[in-house]
Amino acid sequence: MQQSVQPNHHMTPDAVGMFVSYLVGKFTKDQKEIVMLDPAIGTGNLLFAIMNQLTDKNIASYGVEIDETLIRLAYAGANLQEHPLEFFNQDSLEPLFIDPSDVVVSDLPIGYYPNDVRAVEYELKADKGHSYAHHLFIEQGVKHAKDGGHLFFIVPNNLFVSEEAPKLNDFLKKHTHIKGWCNCRFPCSRVKRLPKAS
Ligand code: SAM
Repeated sequence: MQQSVQPNHHMTPDAVGMFVSYLVGKFTKDQKEIVMLDPAIGTGNLLFAIMNQLTDKNIASYGVEIDETLIRLAYAGANLQEHPLEFFNQDSLEPLFIDPSDVVVSDLPIGYYPNDVRAVEYELKADKGHSYAHHLFIEQGVKHAKDGGHLFFIVPNNLFVSEEAPKLNDFLKKHTHIKGWCNCRFPCSRVKRLPKAS
């Protein structure tokens, strides 16, 4: 599998899943019930890592995946681990019939989105040529998060330096707040504190 797997089909490693679980736990510490969406669920490993870690919460989850084989794996994994989860086998950038979530989490598929007709519906569409799927996924995630919800994405290193990055920056400034977490002694001078609703 290591030799033939496509880069975008890589399962999210457990270490990354545990780190994301830690962040989700910190940012939702006062919420006992959360609705969580992974629009690129793949094998489900990332979502299961979070559900297995945050056992003090009641988590209702939704997973969307375009690949039939991977979603079958996720389905089998959810049954084995007895996680309540609703699956949608579809392109996540098409309309999703899922209510807004408290948490959107995803290890984003990186690359171009081939469906230019659908991409036109997004603010983050490219001005010419194919649009970046990972940018469109971020926009779709923001659209499917509740007001005050949190989004956690595994992103490529060059996310904020590509030629489409200025548009993404403007979008994020317009629709979201980027929160940082610092574990040094309180009060911390390194992290700008943000207003509560974000
Ligand atoms: N977190 C997943 C896991 O632990 O297995 C891995 C996610 S993998 C990096 C990205 C996933 O996005 C792949 O499973 C791929 O099939 C899926 N994907 C790519 N384009 C998609 C689309 N338009 N709609 C839904 N899923 C898509």
